[in-house]
Amino acid sequence: MEETHEHLGARAAQLISAGSFFYHRGWMPATAGGLSARLDDHRMVITESGRNKGELGHDGLMMVDLDGNVLSPGKQPSAETFLHIILYRRSPRIGAVMHTHSVSATVLSRIVEGAELTLTDCEVLRTLPGIACRDASITLPIFGNDQDIPQLAAQVDDHMNRHPDTPGYLIEGHGFYTWGRDAAEARHHVEAFEFLFDCELQLRRLKP
Ligand SMILES: [Zn+2]
Repeated sequence: MEETHEHLGARAAQLISAGSFFYHRGWMPATAGGLSARLDDHRMVITESGRNKGELGHDGLMMVDLDGNVLSPGKQPSAETFLHIILYRRSPRIGAVMHTHSVSATVLSRIVEGAELTLTDCEVLRTLPGIACRDASITLPIFGNDQDIPQLAAQVDDHMNRHPDTPGYLIEGHGFYTWGRDAAEARHHVEAFEFLFDCELQLRRLKP
């Protein structure tokens, strides 16, 4: 039990730190977005619904099992918790999931024609493990902002069955999801992709 508490505490500290960093970069405004980390084969720790990620404490996190059952009494899970769960169910190699609502990701997801965004010159991604940046470009799918979360989750799952290397995805007019083997890797992926989103948006402004 003590080991579980230590494990939970370490994961929670990583999510609190990432939340503060993302909030102060403007990638999780107000109470938007969600962060989670796997605890074991059956459970994860995730930010509670309605929490400001810049002021997150241990009381802003909760445990949920991978069937969606709340394990922290009195806590309210976000409607998007299921989007985290389906990723953990897919692969034991996914140890953390991070969801941001940055301006660049939100705007790009609205102005791109078609259902995917291709980012080029992804030098920043080459330094990171877990991302295959082939032929100097990387493509992210864009899903419609479906309020029916199980339906949206099924679309993500279906896409990943066909493209298992997918490193993240955008939701139109909403935000970005990415993941990693652990919280540190997922945080690096957020930072790298947000840099690429900023570059892409600025390029489109300068060279419409
Ligand atoms: Zn969201």
